[in-house]
Amino acid sequence: MPGLACAPARPGAILTAAAARDWRVLVVDGDEEVHAAAQAGLQGLVLFGAPVLLLQARSEAEARAVLRRERDLAVVLLGVDAAPHTDWGLVEFLREGLALQHTRIVLRTEHAGPALEQLLRYDIADCRSKAELAPARLQATVAAALRAYEQLCNTEASRRSLERIVQSGTALLEQTSLQAFAGAVITQLAAVLDVPEEGMLCWRDASATDGGGQVLAAAGRFAGLAGQALQALPASRAVQLLRRALVQGGNCHGEQGGVALYLGRRDGQDMAVYVQAPRLRSRADRQLLDVFCTNLRTLRHNRGLLERLHQSAYFDAQVGLPNRAHFIEKVDACARRGARNHILALLDIDDFSAANDVMGHRFGDRLLAAVARRLAEAVPPGVLLARVGPDTFGALGTTEQVVPQRLLECVRQPVLVDGVPHKVTLTCGHVLLPQVAQAGVDLVKDATIALKRAKRDHRGQDLRYAEQMGAEARDRALLLSELRTAIDEARLYLVYQPQRDLRTQALVGLEALLRWRTEDGRLVPPDRFIPVAEHSGLIVPLGQWVLANACATMREMLDLGCAPRRMAVNVSVAQLRDPGFFETVRAALAAHALQGHHLELEITESVAVLPTQLLESTLSALRAEGITIAIDDFGTGYSSLSYLERLPLDRIKIDRGFVRQLREAQGARIAETVTQLGRKLGLQVLAEGIEDAATWQALVDMGCHEGQGFHIAPPMERDALLNWLRAPALV
Ligand code: C2E
Ligand code: MG
Ligand code: MG
Repeated sequence: MPGLACAPARPGAILTAAAARDWRVLVVDGDEEVHAAAQAGLQGLVLFGAPVLLLQARSEAEARAVLRRERDLAVVLLGVDAAPHTDWGLVEFLREGLALQHTRIVLRTEHAGPALEQLLRYDIADCRSKAELAPARLQATVAAALRAYEQLCNTEASRRSLERIVQSGTALLEQTSLQAFAGAVITQLAAVLDVPEEGMLCWRDASATDGGGQVLAAAGRFAGLAGQALQALPASRAVQLLRRALVQGGNCHGEQGGVALYLGRRDGQDMAVYVQAPRLRSRADRQLLDVFCTNLRTLRHNRGLLERLHQSAYFDAQVGLPNRAHFIEKVDACARRGARNHILALLDIDDFSAANDVMGHRFGDRLLAAVARRLAEAVPPGVLLARVGPDTFGALGTTEQVVPQRLLECVRQPVLVDGVPHKVTLTCGHVLLPQVAQAGVDLVKDATIALKRAKRDHRGQDLRYAEQMGAEARDRALLLSELRTAIDEARLYLVYQPQRDLRTQALVGLEALLRWRTEDGRLVPPDRFIPVAEHSGLIVPLGQWVLANACATMREMLDLGCAPRRMAVNVSVAQLRDPGFFETVRAALAAHALQGHHLELEITESVAVLPTQLLESTLSALRAEGITIAIDDFGTGYSSLSYLERLPLDRIKIDRGFVRQLREAQGARIAETVTQLGRKLGLQVLAEGIEDAATWQALVDMGCHEGQGFHIAPPMERDALLNWLRAPALV
């Protein structure tokens, strides 16, 4: 039975249910007796359910014409009289010229027949003499050749089917959603069966006992049914077959065509697909459909795996939000479309790492999750919220949806961590998506620049990215790399500025100040490079170096007998935040056999950003060692008075800006207030930037205890300092 795709197999068509029209048999012979026998034996003959169509040619030229015209020839009966010197021209034309590989060739020859080598080369099925081609024998010969032809065609069709099934697998795996996958199953099945794309895919809860289910995807005349319950659909052949496939868990073929394939069970859901197709009769056809189904089941399973992989690659399970990779992909897709009115905001939890260090990682994890929940509640549907860094969240949406100020306010009420309210603040950097296409990563970078700037200068607030920030960020990056080189090449050194008791003029201390001289002799001001070092975290090792060197100088001066009471070292917030800071200080003192009271640490009001508990415990521990603490540049920061009262401090340093004002009329107020404040709190007060005797006197008069400034001495390198100490110029 010629059920499968006999030649010509349509490209891409795999299983064809249509039966072959007829068997085309060509007789090429110069002998009329052979033609007569063929007519008698083959004309009107029906073999395997299809009629034999006899074609005849009496010369090679005629035969070539027929061959060109009739491509799906099943058998060629070829008379070759000249054997053993057969002219293989026509056979070569058929096999090589026309590439008819499946057509069976039966030679009619009265001689011994060609050599085996030739038979194999041209795939000759049989050799017969005229006597052997009497009608009855001829029928048997042709029937055998047709069988062989059908098998070759079937094998070829199966090979193509499998190829198509493999291809369909690739196409199916590429689908990113279940819906798309379901739609693609219909498309691929229709392609495999070579039928129009007309069908539907259903799934139903495996525990359901009724014939229920839901249409997940539909195509062709079923297209409108997607999303509907199977039960709600009018009873049609398609619905019945689908229901049967789902209930029986197997493929169902309709009597009048149509097939419902059962696609297996996953995650408690049975799935089946129906396509409109003519009835498949052959076992091979059905077997191939089974292969298709098995492949689909595997794919469904693999898709599940893929989804889970995708999930873990693009999802942050800790906070239950998409992760950075996902965020950047979405920003990219959005930005490449040139989205209008879109904003990308990055929100960072202020001092998260300090909280994490002090309160422990478990606390940190819960705090993160709590903030993530707050943010998720604060954004309207449609906004993409993701975790893009350890304590940084990203939001992408329209300018109406994502309002940075509103997001900052979502933590105005303390967040609950293990039922305990915890006060957090967020800082935001944002960028408006340009109307021209741009890469997502670049936009995230821009927003990060704005965020870092906001962290530095506008904590707890929001900052929009501006072009020049990018340039500044690049400058800073350049300066940072130069600074690293300078450190490696030992171009950094310390200078020391003396501090005196303003009343007795006694030398009380030295402040160590960092200097950077470039290769060409330029001095880079610390106000420029210290912030860069702070920003990058480089200040931690750099500060350690400063501390060690200042301690070494102090030890040297003690040994020389010219040391003042204390050595003051500036300390940045990043250093204090470092959990190892206290130990670093202790080790530096021990390394140079110094006592705690030999060292003063100058902190600034920006330490207010540290969690109070961390700050208080660190400062108390330092003071317990005898180390004194001064608050530097007082009045320029934003600390509150309550802060001053609470922190364990020894000294206030009046910023040189206020000291300078002393020379102006009415300029004394702030310096005076700070002095009084310090005295009231029982703190020592030191004035910076004393540049003349009058300022000195004014400070003495207002009760300021100590001072430093060019009027006393400039910051000096070690050698100059030792000279100065031997003969300190009195004011
Ligand atoms: P600061 O701690 O307030 O240091 C005092 C600054 O005032 C020094 O500037 C000093 O040279 C300058 N100065 C001293 N006397 C006078 C004066 O009579 N008139 C004027 N106009 N200025 C005077 P410098 O050395 O440029 O340092 C600037 C800032 O850089 C320091 O301010 C400090 O905040 C930071 N810094 C310097 N070295 C270090 C360091 O080792 N670590 C850290 N974290 N910061 C440092
Ligand atoms: Mg200082
Ligand atoms: Mg200062």
